[in-house]
Amino acid sequence: MGRNYKIGVIKGDGIGPEIIDEAIKVLDALSANMGFNLEYNEMLMGGAAIDATGVPLPDETIQGVKKCDAVLFGAIGGPKWDNVERHLRPESGLLAIRKEMGTFANLRPAIVYDELVNASTLKPDVVRGVDIMVVRELTGGIYFGQPRELFEDRAYNTMVYTREEVKRIAHVAFEIAMKRGKRICSVDKANVLEVSQFWRETVIEVAKEYPEVELTHMYVDNAAMQLIRNPKQFDVILTGNIFGDILSDAASMLSGSIGLLPSASTGKGVGLYEPIHGSAPDIAGQGIANPLATISSASMMLRYALGEGAAADKIDDAIKKSLAKGYRTGDLGAYDAVEICSCSEIGDIIAKYVSQ
Ligand code: NAD
Repeated sequence: MGRNYKIGVIKGDGIGPEIIDEAIKVLDALSANMGFNLEYNEMLMGGAAIDATGVPLPDETIQGVKKCDAVLFGAIGGPKWDNVERHLRPESGLLAIRKEMGTFANLRPAIVYDELVNASTLKPDVVRGVDIMVVRELTGGIYFGQPRELFEDRAYNTMVYTREEVKRIAHVAFEIAMKRGKRICSVDKANVLEVSQFWRETVIEVAKEYPEVELTHMYVDNAAMQLIRNPKQFDVILTGNIFGDILSDAASMLSGSIGLLPSASTGKGVGLYEPIHGSAPDIAGQGIANPLATISSASMMLRYALGEGAAADKIDDAIKKSLAKGYRTGDLGAYDAVEICSCSEIGDIIAKYVSQ
């Protein structure tokens, strides 16, 4: 008897369904000969859920994800739902599900594949060998802080962190650093914000439990600059919700395209595995989206949620092999491409490699 896993699947909006279909194609090709079985349970969230049920996060989805071993998610949002009330916007569904699932840690690797050093907008020497893990706090900070209010002539949000919230995300970062280069750069704005001073003091406290890890601190404005100037100086970046959101998008461009980078949102229970990009409404339905970020997210799901590391290695190797052979979607197309491929052709190629 093989291992059986229940996978929640939320395709979402825009390119979401296209990229998720390719990840599932790869997972199916892989599970057949790796001795495990994946049972998919599709659920609604975002614009698709608004259209079908009137709300961005139906109760059925909240209950459904809790019964899964992991959730694979595409992306949500789009101009169609831009003018609905804020609490009914597609994005509020994503914020709410992260909170419901207790996924307080967002892991965002930014890796530059050797085969794509020319695809970055930065010089090859600057990006070659970059391998950064951004550990972003996901369920606290200014995106969730109360009070928050929008009036006609003024508006405010509140950036709050509790000691417990900072400690638990710091522990995640230190554990990851122990398995990598044993260096953490904690990013904050402690020169201006009290909440950042508190963040820094708390991270220093946690660091005492990990004497092997070297901890440094950097202000977020400098970190944005250093990521572009000399990204290889970073191993693990530990930061809060809003700073991590911005820095990880900046870091994604080191790799050449936002369409390459996966993420894992983990925490107390079931984890959410998703590309870092959005629903790309500008290219939705054209079959040209890059599915690699989602296929890599499926790899992270196998590794971190299901403990199927060998299967994850197969996906990672297949991605490298396809890039080395010159297969590219259009977002990477201008650089050293042998063949410009559609979203589903890339899925076919990776599926073929993982089943070899
Ligand atoms: P986006 O990431 O969707 O797109 C930014 C740019 O990158 C676009 O030009 C897009 O075509 C390109 N791009 C993104 N993914 C790509 C891929 N896989 N292959 C090729 N090109 C790709 O960001 P945006 O345009 O700011 O937002 C569009 C919508 O997505 C908005 O409604 C936004 O709220 C939502 N969004 C959702 C998530 C999520 O679901 N996690 C994250 C960010 C934005």
